Amino acid sequence: MADYRELWESLGVDLEKHDQLCTVLPEFYEDIYLSQENRPEAMNYFNFVVSEIHGLRIQELDEHRKKGGKVLGSFCVFVPDEVIFGAEAIGVGLCGGSDFWVPDGEKVLPRNMCPLIKASVGAKTSGTCPYFQSVDLLVGETTCDGKKKAWEILEEHVPMHVMDLPQMKREKDKLNWIEEIKLFKEKVEKLTGNVVTREKLEESIKLINNKRKALQRLYDMRKAAKLPISGKDALLITQIAFYDDPERFIAKVDELCDELEERIEKGDTVFKEDAPRILVTGTPMAIPNWKMHHLIEGNGGAVVCEETCTGTRYFSNLVDEGSQSLEEQYQALAERYLGINCACFTPNEGRIDDIIRLYKEYSADGVIYYSLPFCHTYAVEYKKVKDALDKAGIPVILIESDYSLQDAGQITTRLEAFFEMLQNRKTNKEVAATK
Ligand code: SF4
Ligand code: SF4
Repeated sequence: MADYRELWESLGVDLEKHDQLCTVLPEFYEDIYLSQENRPEAMNYFNFVVSEIHGLRIQELDEHRKKGGKVLGSFCVFVPDEVIFGAEAIGVGLCGGSDFWVPDGEKVLPRNMCPLIKASVGAKTSGTCPYFQSVDLLVGETTCDGKKKAWEILEEHVPMHVMDLPQMKREKDKLNWIEEIKLFKEKVEKLTGNVVTREKLEESIKLINNKRKALQRLYDMRKAAKLPISGKDALLITQIAFYDDPERFIAKVDELCDELEERIEKGDTVFKEDAPRILVTGTPMAIPNWKMHHLIEGNGGAVVCEETCTGTRYFSNLVDEGSQSLEEQYQALAERYLGINCACFTPNEGRIDDIIRLYKEYSADGVIYYSLPFCHTYAVEYKKVKDALDKAGIPVILIESDYSLQDAGQITTRLEAFFEMLQNRKTNKEVAATK
């Protein structure tokens, strides 16, 4: 990586502490990612993005700001990027996925809180995340209680705008959400000095839809019997989608998909033939939280899909591109975003339908329900999901785990037992089919 110290210093990054963070990541990435065999060539771009994670993209954001542009940071897939890009601003996802930031988060938040919130707040308060240091406005939302209250703390450090996300999906909630999108648009217009016209919004809707289509194409490749890409690599790509330049990202994902298509034709796979196919569902895995995928795939499993916000919830369903007026565009945005089935909604039956549908579409053998500790919405929702999956004859286990590696041994033991059960189930089915 080139020398970005001057840039980081200008952004107010705590250089000494940031050095500590930068020492850990390359080794971690080498162990988890670069050690994989037979990776697609086109993953080199994504390796490069990680190697420049605090470099090149930060420089691009800096150049944008120097030209008078604005950068907005968000923490949830409900924040409509279309509005941000429609005002010629840049949006970046800021969720913290590293254990490194948790202790700083715990200085201002209770310890018994979800690590994603603690890490996100710690990333800002420690001054070690150049993305946080580059944003002109943070955009929060009223999803879970932990996040809602964390915005009040972050507001002491950086300007914030909070979107009031409804907790139900009735008609009146949709109307409220349309109003929230309009308020957000006004805020962004004020910040940037740019008006979000119908034409500009039409363009940004197409851009973000194209990003969704590229990700959907990538995920479609994971439906193949012989998987051409690991779940770890697919997860990394979705994580990068949150902050990379959208047009470049779309082009690079398409390049990768061309290669994956060829692999599928040739039957070139990265897994052993009998690897159990796993659908992961649950809480988001913000970069660099690769723990669960690494443990699953390191123990012989193959992750075929993620029903998470760093998976299908991020890109499923497009915004209707046929709107004729700004009013219709807001409605189309509200429709698409309220179609996301996050556990902060009640009821949230749509998520159960999604899990069962994805299990079938990706020919999964079992489901791993992943929950970060102290995430009440997802932990409570497990019961409903499990009941439905039991009824549908779909094997599922719950794994609750934070960012530390202390429980890796215990999780490995549980995964081994789960995979063995899935294997026996498969063998029994095959035997029954021959009778
Ligand atoms: S899990 Fe819910 S609150 Fe968290 S990022 Fe996803 S939609 Fe937002
Ligand atoms: S994982 Fe759960 S507790 Fe953590 S931010 Fe998301 S919804 Fe909130």
